[in-house]
Amino acid sequence: MRIVIIGAVAAGTSAAAKARRNNEDAGIVIYEKDNYISYSGCGMPYYIGGEVESADELTPRDPAFFKSKYNVDIFTRHEVLAISSDEKSVTAKNLITGCVHRSLR
Ligand SMILES: Cc1cc2nc3c(=O)[nH]c(=O)nc-3n(C[C@H](O)[C@H](O)[C@H](O)COP(=O)(O)OP(=O)(O)OC[C@H]3O[C@@H](n4cnc5c(N)ncnc54)[C@H](O)[C@@H]3O)c2cc1C
Repeated sequence: MRIVIIGAVAAGTSAAAKARRNNEDAGIVIYEKDNYISYSGCGMPYYIGGEVESADELTPRDPAFFKSKYNVDIFTRHEVLAISSDEKSVTAKNLITGCVHRSLR
């Protein structure tokens, strides 16, 4: 089984961790169009207000963490452009290279 998740903040990373707990063998991939994953949106006012000094404190986890702990591949700066439920595929664009690829189940 291959599981593709779009978005790597609270919902996406929680879904990936839960999917891994339910299935040790599934291939799990997350596409995230932003640079950061699993960040604390709730903490942003504290960063802007100066109570949190470094933005790094709001982004405690990175793709390497999810790879080593959950064997989940996270592709940041990848925007999903289309989903085909018939083909069970997603089309994603690498926002750095401009390359577009289709990922099949
Ligand atoms: C200032 C602020 C304060 C907050 N305070 C609180 C609080 O006190 N308590 C509380 O419970 N909640 C709070 N929240 C809300 C909380 O941060 C959100 O509920 C939470 O971030 C939602 O997470 P999510 O994963 O559902 O969605 P999002 O955080 O919106 O994440 C979705 C991700 O999907 C990515 N994405 C979307 N479309 C695509 C695509 N086509 N391809 C690839 N990636 C895509 C986006 O880049 C985004 O990173 C606050 C939010 C803000 C902004």
